[in-house]
Amino acid sequence: MSSEHISLTTKTIREQIQRHGYISVADYMNAVATDYYARGDVFGRGGDFVTAPEISQAFGEIVGLWAAVTWQQMGSPRHVHLVECGPGRGTLMADALRATKGAHGFVAAAKIHLVERSPALRALQKKTLSNHDITWHDDLATVPDGPVIIIGNEFLDALPVRQYQRTNDGWAERVITLDGRGELTFSTRPADNIPIPIPLAVTAEVGAIFEFSEAITALVKHIANRIARNSGAALLIDYGHSASGLGDTLQAVKGHSYHNVLTSPGEADMTAHVDFAHVKAMAKSAGVCVFGPIEQGIWLRQLGIGLRQVQLARGKPADVAQTIEQGVRRLTEPHGMGVLFKVITLADPSLPRLEGFP
Ligand code: SAH
Repeated sequence: MSSEHISLTTKTIREQIQRHGYISVADYMNAVATDYYARGDVFGRGGDFVTAPEISQAFGEIVGLWAAVTWQQMGSPRHVHLVECGPGRGTLMADALRATKGAHGFVAAAKIHLVERSPALRALQKKTLSNHDITWHDDLATVPDGPVIIIGNEFLDALPVRQYQRTNDGWAERVITLDGRGELTFSTRPADNIPIPIPLAVTAEVGAIFEFSEAITALVKHIANRIARNSGAALLIDYGHSASGLGDTLQAVKGHSYHNVLTSPGEADMTAHVDFAHVKAMAKSAGVCVFGPIEQGIWLRQLGIGLRQVQLARGKPADVAQTIEQGVRRLTEPHGMGVLFKVITLADPSLPRLEGFP
């Protein structure tokens, strides 16, 4: 990306602050995400951060097998929309489709849809998935009706959150504005109807922060309504907490290190932890069945990632076998991604218990 482009993100943000006196954390995240993902391949060792499908092919394979089994539980419909939200490089979908080639008609039934806004990432996905027919969407809303299986890995964390802060005068919205030197800085502004659960609102100390994502709320409601209407299931995997809580989880990562969230916006990946209790409550109130959230490590082990690791390593030189083992350990162990990352599924209530949940 050229420096001209970077300054465009900063320019958009500053213009909004000048016009309104502030920019909400959600609008800031949105502006940053659009420019950041427009950079293209930001993943992997040479990029800014590593995601599960880039660590081990076993991750996408297990997700693929889960999707194939779910399709069978749905009665093996002749057509199913297999949708991935935020597919990154397209690695997860490629691994999932390869692993399910032999799964009794699943791949033939699957119409593949990718929800991706970044033109550069769409181009990368097209290359990774060159053997498949793909339809891209800016938004889940344009995926046609019909039986559906939706997948999203590290998608929800990229969606914007608003932040609220307890001040001496009660709750306020935490926003971004300019300080005396013209630098971006956090501030607060009065706000009504703060969506904070009452027990948290009353116990919070001055300075405490609560995060709420309107984008996640709308997406989960949309997914739940679609599943209830069309039959199907959704699998969402992300880092976050199982119970709603207080705390500032906004973070920026660049070159595998933490980066100040207000410095050079658009140059670093910006995310927030997902409130899975809220996701669960939204989905249930829309009338679908919810399994989880459970820890990613438990879910992957339950679906046989240990066996898959043994298969992948069989007959390989010791160093390759060791890399395979390290990858699976990173995905499943508590000091890796096994505990912080959670798996939740939303399902049509007529389906039996989905795989992977004890
Ligand atoms: N799932 C991938 C990539 C995760 S990064 C992996 O596990 O490797 C987040 C992905 O979501 C990127 O592909 C990004 O371009 C996409 N994305 C972020 N916000 C989006 C939005 N609002 N609409 C559509 N795609 C979005």
